[in-house]
This record gives sequence, C-alpha cells and structure tokens, in this order.
Amino acid sequence: MKPHLRGIWLDFGDWTGAGPFAKIVSQSRQNRMGGENIMLMEDIKKLDRNGWVEQARKISFEGRNFINGEFVPAKSGKTFEKINPASGEVMATVSRSDGEDVNAAVAAARKAFKSGVWSRMAPRDRMNVLYRYAKLINEHAMEFALLDTLDMGKPIMDMINSDVPGSALTFQYFAETIDKIDGQVTNTAASEFQYILRQPLGVVACITPWNYPLMMAAWKVAPALAAGNTVVLKPAEQSPHSASLMAKLFIEAGGPAGVFNVVQGLGHEAGKALALHMDVDKIAFTGSVEVGKLVLVYAGQSNMKRVTTECGGKTPQIIMADAPDLDRAVSYAVNGIYGNQGEVCNAGSRLLVDQKLHDEFIQRFIEKSKTAFLPGDPLDPATTMGPLVTREQQQRVLGYIEKGKQEGAKLEFGGAVPEKLEQGAYVAPTLFTGVKNEMTIAREEIFGPVAAVMPFRTLEEAIEIANDSIYGLAASIWTKDISTAHKAARDIDAGVVWVNCFDHGDMTQPWGGFKQSGNGRDKCFETMLHHTQTKSVWVHLG
Ligand code: NAD
Repeated sequence: MKPHLRGIWLDFGDWTGAGPFAKIVSQSRQNRMGGENIMLMEDIKKLDRNGWVEQARKISFEGRNFINGEFVPAKSGKTFEKINPASGEVMATVSRSDGEDVNAAVAAARKAFKSGVWSRMAPRDRMNVLYRYAKLINEHAMEFALLDTLDMGKPIMDMINSDVPGSALTFQYFAETIDKIDGQVTNTAASEFQYILRQPLGVVACITPWNYPLMMAAWKVAPALAAGNTVVLKPAEQSPHSASLMAKLFIEAGGPAGVFNVVQGLGHEAGKALALHMDVDKIAFTGSVEVGKLVLVYAGQSNMKRVTTECGGKTPQIIMADAPDLDRAVSYAVNGIYGNQGEVCNAGSRLLVDQKLHDEFIQRFIEKSKTAFLPGDPLDPATTMGPLVTREQQQRVLGYIEKGKQEGAKLEFGGAVPEKLEQGAYVAPTLFTGVKNEMTIAREEIFGPVAAVMPFRTLEEAIEIANDSIYGLAASIWTKDISTAHKAARDIDAGVVWVNCFDHGDMTQPWGGFKQSGNGRDKCFETMLHHTQTKSVWVHLG
C-alpha cells in the first residue's frame, strides 16, 4: 500500500522501504530540540517498536511561543497540559497564550515585514532559504514523526512515509513559484503608462488543525512565506509541538528572525485574538465549519482581513456497477475512510454503492477490513491505526455510532473501543449499512473511522445523494464508462473529483471545497497568488 494522504500521492516505490527522501539525509546532525543526534533515514526505517519507544523517551517537547526568533513563555505564565492520546498520560505542558502574546507575535511579524528583510529579499535568495528549509524538514524526519505521533496518535510510519516528505515537498513547490510571479504592463493611450505590481499582503496568520499537524501547517505557511509575507502560526492545542520545531528550523535555514512566529494556546483565546487582530492582513484557516464561520465573523468585526477557509467534508465515493476493478475500488474505499483513523477532511465516509453489486461490495469490504487497519500502538511501525486525538473525540465518535444504531442503520462491524486498548482514545474501524442520507451519520462530519453505505439505482440518484450535503470537499466515482465519469465530474459539487482512484494528487492540484467545505484553495499556484495583492501604478507621461 502506498502512502496517499491528503491529496498528495507519494510514489515511494514501496511503502516500507527507503524512499527518495532517504537519500537526502546524508549526515548525522545535532537535534537541537532534544540535543540528541538524529538518525539517517535508512536507520530510521529499520527501527522496531522498541527502537521508537526508546527515541520517544529521549525527545524533549518545546511548548513555548516562538517570537522574533526566540522561544518565550506566555506573558501570563499560564500553561495547559498536553495528553498523549495513546496512553492517556500527561506528556508535556504548553504555553497558554492570550491577547498580549498575540500582540507581541504580530508586532514582531509586522516589524520584520516592514523592514523588507524577507519581503524584499531577492527572489532567488528567498527560494534558497526555502529549499534549505525543505531539506531540513526531511533531515529532522524522526523528530517531526515523534512529535506529531505522540501529540495526536498518528501511526509513526505515516509520518515517515507521507507527512514529513509531503511537508518538505510543499515548501519546495512554493519555493519554485517565487520567481514565477510577474507584474504586468497594460495597453494604454500614448500619454499614459500603467503597470501592475504583485506584492505580498503583510502579516498572515495561519490557524491549523490537529489531524495533519505538520502538513497542514506546511500547506498554510509555505505559500505565505514564499510570497514574501511574514507569518504567525497558531497550531491546534491538541498538536502544538511540530510547529515549534518548524519555526526553529526556519532560522537554521537562514530565515530572518520575526518572519515565522508561533503562538501556542487555545482556540477561543489565542486563535480568537489573532483572528480579531487589527494588524493581521490575512487568516489562512483550516479546521471545522463551526470555527471557520467564527473566523469570518471576527474578520468582519475587526479590520476586514482576508480569510480563506478549508473546512470539513462528508465525501461520497460512488461505486458504479461497471467499476473497472472491484477489489481495487474496495481497497481504496477501505483506505479512504480508515486511513489516519478517519480523521481526514476528505475521508470517504459515504459509500454510495450501485445496488446491483451492493452485497458483494459489502462482503469484500468486510473481508478487506479484517486485516487492513488494526488499531495499536502508534509507535509500532507495523501499526496502521492509532488512537483518536483525544478522549473527547473518542466519545464524540462513539456518540455518532450510538446515533447510527438508534436511527436504524445496521452495524456490520466495529462500533466500540478495541479490547486491551482502553487506556487510549481508540475506536475500532466501523461499518454501517442500510444508511439513509437523512440519518445523522450520513449528514454530519464524524471525523473518525466510521463508514456509511448507501445503495442507489441510477447515476442521477447517486449524484443527487452525493450533492445533498452542506459539504463539498471531495468525491470519487468508479466506472468504466467515460460518459458516466465525465458527467459525474461535471455535476458533483466538490473541489476534487477522483475517477477510478481516491486521494491521488500532487502539489499542482488545487485543494479546497465547494459550499461549507470552505472558500480557499491549498497547494497549487493559485494559492500563491492568494497571498499577494495587485497594485496598479498609473503614470501620466504628458
Ligand atoms: P477546529 O475548528 O476545532 O480548530 C482548528 C483551529 O482553530 C485550531 O488551531 C483551534 O485552536 C482554532 N480555533 C478554535 N476555536 C477558535 C476560535 N474561536 N477562533 C480562532 N481559532 C479557533 O478544528 P480541528 O478539530 O482542529 O480540526 C478538525 C477539522 O478540520 C475537521 O472539520 C476537518 O475536516 C478540518 N480539516 C479540513 C481540511 C481541509 O483541507 N479542508 C484539512 C484538515 C482538517
């Protein structure tokens, strides 16, 4: 199975073997977070569970803010406890920032922006900083993997094979765009001369979720920095630590102090203060619909800052009776909902199956699910499913499962906390059949490993069900018929439609939603442009 997370399809040749990035780490370096030597990629890939546990014991957690190139505690001295979701134990304390800390971070970012130290750096030099930064991210793969896995429970090999190289690639891609942005000279009367400049916005605040902590931060921070803006990143309180390492490595890559700042804290405190701030020019937000709407309100209540939102989803996967290879479709369906514990914005949670192959599909899905995603210790490289991010998230998902049963769906498997894993926030992979699109489990984003199967008779009916949702992030259709494929691609309301695959993509792919899945786009060149603004210069020549 290849890593295929979050629309970045990474072809490593093989899932567990050394990938292209293995060659990047050519020497041991000092791990400046923990003071340990970091490992070569080929050695990282040889670690067994004991080896990872040993590395986890050695790592130290930096939970303070990073402002103007330095780690500083919250001015109030307040902290909050960070729980490891696999063990239920407190693993670290993190700064609980408020408006004062946000003011300091925004002031540092504004000062750096105004100085021109980054925004006016020669494009080639800015590119070189980001290239070095991408390389450093890969070189620190082990630390990033441990920090995100311990924070939010993701299987460690998902980090090594997908999140870390995918994040490095994000910085590399946006670095490549830096000198591809041009202004324009327009046609005017002979007495006039107009040119259009494309300039950075100023201070960009990035507010990110916990499901792909490093990668979501990379998707937000990379285009903002590449375009010459300065950044204040507010990571989710459930997954604070990789952001600290990111900011620190930016300095190591040659980035000037004050350009990349991090404010730790709770959403309704630090996040809200940032979104309400009068000197922030743009919020790049990824998270829930509920909070995305609040951020839009805060922008209106303050300085009308630009807001781009990437929010939730309820992705339909449509399996037509003429699906070219049913086993492949089933495999993708299983991965599409259970990968990353189902904590994926585009998780393929609604399986729309042509009723002609409904029973066979279910039987194969059940068979495949028995071995594909087995919950376990996320530090074990053999584990394919970790705990959910918190005990609250576990209870929320179990609540949806209860609701599914109460509303009349049939629980085929799962639906409970796996045995012997009660200490962590685990939920077993779960499948419901007999689901109707008006049921809660078909309408609301569960953000856990819960699939809902719904039969349909015609393509029109499938598209109607697919579109009957407040969300419109992604969709897939499996068919041999070229007309069916193109009709579905045209008519489904979603930012991404996959045909005979799921979650394939690369950095050129615009990533974002229709409807309440959000109004922005991540990855892709368009995203870079969204971090700039045009200025028209009109010269009267006389
Ligand atoms: P969330 O909305 O609870 O939190 C997201 C971020 O917003 C966090 O940093 C949080 O601290 C902050 N926040 C919370 N309240 C705030 C407030 N009042 N003001 C300002 N900031 C505030 O989301 P989450 O639980 O961290 O992440 C899961 C959600 O993210 C899911 O809905 C998922 O679909 C979505 N998501 C979307 C994409 C995408 O690309 N569309 C990608 C990943 C996750």
